[in-house]
Amino acid sequence: MSRIVGIDLGTTNSLVAYVDEKTGLPRVIPDRDGRALLPSVVAFTPDGVLVGEPAKRQLVRRPETTVYSVKRLMGRGYEDVKDELCYLPFKVHPCEGIVKIEIGDREVTPPEVSAIVLRSLKERAEAWFDEPVEKAVVTVPAYFNDSQRQATKDAGRIAGLDVVRIVNEPTAASLAYGLHRLKDGVVAVYDLGGGTFDVSILRVKDGVFEVLATNGNTHLGGDDFDRAIVLWLLDDIRETHGVYLGRDNEAMQELRLAAEAAKIRLSGEERTTLTIPFDAFTYHRDIARADVERLIDRLVESTLAPCRVALADAGLAPSDVGEVVLVGGSTRVPLVRRRVQEVFGRTPHSQLNPDEVVALGAAVQAHILAGGITNLLLLDVTPLSLGIETLGGIVSVLIPRNTTIPTSAREMFTTSVDGQTVVDLHVVQGERELARDCRSLARFELSGVDPMPAGLPKIEVTFLIDANGILQVAARELRTGKTAAIEVKPTYGLSDADVARMVEESFAYAEADVEARLLIEARNEADTVLTHVARALRQGGGLVTAEERERIDAALAELRRARATDVRDLIHEKTTALNRATEHLAEVMMDAALKGALGSKRAAEIIESQ
Ligand code: AMP
Repeated sequence: MSRIVGIDLGTTNSLVAYVDEKTGLPRVIPDRDGRALLPSVVAFTPDGVLVGEPAKRQLVRRPETTVYSVKRLMGRGYEDVKDELCYLPFKVHPCEGIVKIEIGDREVTPPEVSAIVLRSLKERAEAWFDEPVEKAVVTVPAYFNDSQRQATKDAGRIAGLDVVRIVNEPTAASLAYGLHRLKDGVVAVYDLGGGTFDVSILRVKDGVFEVLATNGNTHLGGDDFDRAIVLWLLDDIRETHGVYLGRDNEAMQELRLAAEAAKIRLSGEERTTLTIPFDAFTYHRDIARADVERLIDRLVESTLAPCRVALADAGLAPSDVGEVVLVGGSTRVPLVRRRVQEVFGRTPHSQLNPDEVVALGAAVQAHILAGGITNLLLLDVTPLSLGIETLGGIVSVLIPRNTTIPTSAREMFTTSVDGQTVVDLHVVQGERELARDCRSLARFELSGVDPMPAGLPKIEVTFLIDANGILQVAARELRTGKTAAIEVKPTYGLSDADVARMVEESFAYAEADVEARLLIEARNEADTVLTHVARALRQGGGLVTAEERERIDAALAELRRARATDVRDLIHEKTTALNRATEHLAEVMMDAALKGALGSKRAAEIIESQ
């Protein structure tokens, strides 16, 4: 049995955990100093690369070469992260669909930075077990799309880790509490960290987790609590000492650290005293838990609407929620716990350390995969439908939204133009009928197809989503036996809110979309008939009378005119009329063809005699 560790690769902190064989319980692996959390910070200094605590200490001194919150950039394009950039002191610029971080005269990609964090955790685990560790389960937010998951896997590969499974963070947190043992139930996972908030509603049935809905705010967390406290302290210092420290970077840093420390103490105590020695004076202040609650009440309140929206999206009422799980350091704040309890009407699980619960769950999943626990299936679902753009821009869905993964699907396609040797494949993601309204995931070419009349090549497209939610697309032309090796490069960048928006839009535009689809299908059918008739006239135009030819030409012209309109019924009517006008032509052409091979029997006779 090869060892697999569980890793929580967090925005602020990362952890590695494993299941202790003796106790059967998951536990976090500490570093040499006994610390479980590794700050997800990497500093590029002239003397080398630092990671974790030493890197964090560089944040104030060397903000431009110290990278943090890189998880926000993973697998995303420049357009998607533009709004993030104002929060980040280091330079980020676009590069071939993804982003790169400029560090002095070198550039690094987000997966490369994450890989440094992962490698540090790998080394920590290796020191703990005194043996190489090469496999890991890594967690990601439930709303991560394929590109973001792929980027996470890439980070593992760069760090020398085989990421055997990507698991959704709320699923991992539920696993840590053993909720996979529920026969059937609904779990709400409320995750409030330092800088991000998300809530997920999961259904668990016979050990299978399904993410029903997610919501949140990618810029809300304990750091905002600290900021609210700092603003209050600034006012107080101005009143009591007559100085405003808001523009003094060093003093602000002191205030921020003191505010966070006081906030943390107030999670366990009703009152605390804050003491900050500045150059000119020492500031003392008594603070009550109630003071901080007043300052952060609005922020905590703003997490409740996303909880209600997630429930509504899942089609559930609070009373349907059987279990509530708390994740993230900020859920230690008593006010947060009270509010979460109110919104879901349940006492949340809080026995496990909320900073560690995701890593512990990743360890449980790793243990299951390594064969330590059997008879358990752990699956997630695809958040959005996946399909291929077909003629006229219509989407042909191969894997519908909410399909349990891993899964695969196969569908046959063909060409629309005679002699086509290259087929463009466009993989899209979304719930709309037309590709232009969906998210473009990847484009690739199947080349080397033998030239054939339109409709003859048989192109088999296969979609495969592995257990990590990563999509592989392959295309094969069956008639010539030609197989083209195709590499799908995901087009990076789906903003976090997009999934929810895309699903909502599909409802809003359902009727108009179906209309548009039917119109395109009518036009496609008209095009096919027009192409066939043109070909038939070229080959057998001489077999019909001038009068008949005139009738066909008139029907052709009418269909062309109808096709230019948006009137679907008219296009159908004129397509049928042209088909009828060419029935006799088709028959005489078939006769002529058969005569060549079968003597003088008419086609109708041959069919009847069979
Ligand atoms: P995470 O991103 O999950 O590591 O959470 C980090 C956030 O949790 C930071 O904002 C911390 O200040 C906050 N935090 C950690 N411990 C506590 C505590 N005991 N009470 C309140 N906030 C806490």
